[in-house]
Amino acid sequence: MFTCRNQSCGARWEQSDVVIKNEGQGLLFRCPLCGARNYVERFDSDDGEVLYEQLPGRPDQGPMAE
Ligand SMILES: [Zn+2]
Repeated sequence: MFTCRNQSCGARWEQSDVVIKNEGQGLLFRCPLCGARNYVERFDSDDGEVLYEQLPGRPDQGPMAE
Protein backbone atom coordinates (compact mmCIF):
# COMPACT_ATOMS: atom_id res chain seq x y z
CA MET A 1 0.00 0.00 0.00
CA PHE A 2 1.35 3.41 -1.01
CA THR A 3 0.27 6.81 0.28
CA CYS A 4 0.65 9.87 -1.94
CA ARG A 5 3.25 12.11 -0.35
CA ASN A 6 1.44 15.23 -1.51
CA GLN A 7 -0.08 16.13 1.84
CA SER A 8 -3.09 17.87 0.35
CA CYS A 9 -3.86 14.66 -1.56
CA GLY A 10 -2.82 11.75 0.64
CA ALA A 11 -4.57 9.19 -1.54
CA ARG A 12 -3.74 5.57 -0.87
CA TRP A 13 -3.00 3.12 -3.67
CA GLU A 14 -2.34 -0.54 -4.12
CA GLN A 15 0.69 -1.41 -6.19
CA SER A 16 -1.67 -2.63 -8.93
CA ASP A 17 -3.30 0.83 -9.08
CA VAL A 18 -0.18 2.67 -10.15
CA VAL A 19 2.45 2.49 -12.89
CA ILE A 20 5.98 2.29 -11.54
CA LYS A 21 8.66 3.55 -13.91
CA ASN A 22 12.08 5.16 -13.96
CA GLU A 23 12.11 8.74 -15.22
CA GLY A 24 15.87 9.05 -14.70
CA GLN A 25 15.96 9.89 -10.98
CA GLY A 26 14.99 6.50 -9.69
CA LEU A 27 11.83 4.44 -9.65
CA LEU A 28 8.64 6.31 -9.01
CA PHE A 29 4.94 6.29 -9.64
CA ARG A 30 2.76 9.28 -10.33
CA CYS A 31 -0.30 9.60 -8.16
CA PRO A 32 -3.30 8.86 -10.42
CA LEU A 33 -5.26 11.55 -8.60
CA CYS A 34 -2.89 14.53 -8.36
CA GLY A 35 0.11 13.50 -10.47
CA ALA A 36 2.67 13.93 -7.68
CA ARG A 37 5.87 11.94 -8.00
CA ASN A 38 6.20 9.27 -5.33
CA TYR A 39 9.55 7.52 -5.23
CA VAL A 40 9.84 3.82 -4.51
CA GLU A 41 12.57 1.28 -4.04
CA ARG A 42 12.53 -2.16 -5.59
CA PHE A 43 13.12 -5.36 -3.67
CA ASP A 44 13.32 -8.88 -5.01
CA SER A 45 12.03 -11.35 -2.48
CA ASP A 46 13.55 -14.78 -2.01
CA ASP A 47 10.74 -16.45 -3.94
CA GLY A 48 11.27 -14.19 -6.96
CA GLU A 49 8.46 -11.78 -6.28
CA VAL A 50 9.13 -8.12 -7.04
CA LEU A 51 8.15 -5.78 -4.24
CA TYR A 52 8.22 -2.02 -4.06
CA GLU A 53 8.54 0.05 -0.93
CA GLN A 54 7.72 3.72 -0.89
CA LEU A 55 10.52 6.13 -0.02
CA PRO A 56 9.82 9.07 2.30
CA GLY A 57 11.10 11.56 -0.27
CA ARG A 58 13.23 11.88 -3.30
CA PRO A 59 16.33 9.69 -3.52
CA ASP A 60 19.42 11.84 -3.19
CA GLN A 61 22.03 9.30 -4.14
CA GLY A 62 21.92 10.18 -7.82
CA PRO A 63 21.15 7.86 -10.70
CA MET A 64 20.53 4.30 -9.64
CA ALA A 65 22.93 1.70 -10.97
CA GLU A 66 21.08 -1.18 -12.54
ZN1 LIG B 1 -1.84 12.41 -4.91
